[in-house]
Amino acid sequence: MAIESPAQPPRSLVSEGAAVELVDVVKEYGGHRALAGVSLTMRPGEFVALLGPSGCGKTTVLRSLAGLERIDGGRIRIDGADVTAVPVNKRDIGMVFQSYSLFPHLTAVQNVQFGLEMRRVDAASRARRAREALEMVGLGSLGARYAHELSGGQQQRVALARALVTRPRVLLLDEPLSALDAKVRVQLREEIRRIQIELGITTLFVTHDQEEALAVADRVAVMHAGAIEQVGAPEELYSTPATPFVADFVGLSNRVEGEVRAGRVLVHGAELPLLREEVQDGPVIAFVRPEDVLFADSGVPATVVSSSFLGSVRRTLVRLPDDTLLSVQHETSRRPAAGERVHVRFGGRAVSVSPRPARG
Ligand code: ATP
Repeated sequence: MAIESPAQPPRSLVSEGAAVELVDVVKEYGGHRALAGVSLTMRPGEFVALLGPSGCGKTTVLRSLAGLERIDGGRIRIDGADVTAVPVNKRDIGMVFQSYSLFPHLTAVQNVQFGLEMRRVDAASRARRAREALEMVGLGSLGARYAHELSGGQQQRVALARALVTRPRVLLLDEPLSALDAKVRVQLREEIRRIQIELGITTLFVTHDQEEALAVADRVAVMHAGAIEQVGAPEELYSTPATPFVADFVGLSNRVEGEVRAGRVLVHGAELPLLREEVQDGPVIAFVRPEDVLFADSGVPATVVSSSFLGSVRRTLVRLPDDTLLSVQHETSRRPAAGERVHVRFGGRAVSVSPRPARG
């Protein structure tokens, strides 16, 4: 089913864009500390992705902000007002979840109208606003369909229209794309971003998919074990990760054994600058991006393991004599064959490192 081209955002949906502040938020389940003091500030109209591995606390942050969880410490403010004790239905927040969560016995337009009914908006305004919201997500002509008559991507569009139709101050998206297939996922994330920019709504987007987070967000907050490790623009996280965890989690990195000496790291005969120079001398794991490993006429000998065509680039896995596996990103004009003998060298860009125990 084709998606209709979007109309200009209707005035009834344009948001003021609230400032959001989480200050040292703590949440415990039984004895388990799911959030160990999370602080995050979102500017009005900003799109922040909360990124991290499974179980790190992303959903708990989102549920705490929504008022679905009572927090055990810290404060939550929306536009400067403390909402820590304000119940969920008074926080004025729109949410979209991973599961489509439409009411099966209601049509798309009835699903979208539901929140307006709860707010006692009159029938004529409800119908107009629901139609406008469905048009905005490209589903203007499918309002009469029931959930089972819509694809997964279309159901998520309805869920998005339903979340936005009440003009919430903040939009929370909890892995809204993870049940969709790869192509629809990319289309819909771009559309969510377009709508978010047009409406100017402050948005927190939870995902464990780093590519998704880097692609859509103004800033990405990387979470690990109940805490935020770094918040920054996608480029900043990629080029200057603050911790080894961020270096490893954001973007693809080769993990290469090396040795730090006097502010430089030695890896396979190459001497690379350190991203942060205050690292102590000793054995480390260096995180080297695939685009910073190059094929060369001479250098470290390697054997090609496999090679993948990725559209605009190719990524080739090679094995070094000490069994280290390295991913090399290169132009598609070169097509390495499995078993081919090659040489690689390191590009010389600064790298992050993490200490490792010395070999016994
Ligand atoms: P995922 O990506 O897998 O959804 P997440 O990063 O969103 O993970 P959370 O769902 O926030 O993680 O969970 C954080 C931690 O809190 C996990 O260890 C989880 O097991 C625990 N947890 C979450 N909800 C509850 C609950 N209701 N009762 C007990 N423990 C919980």
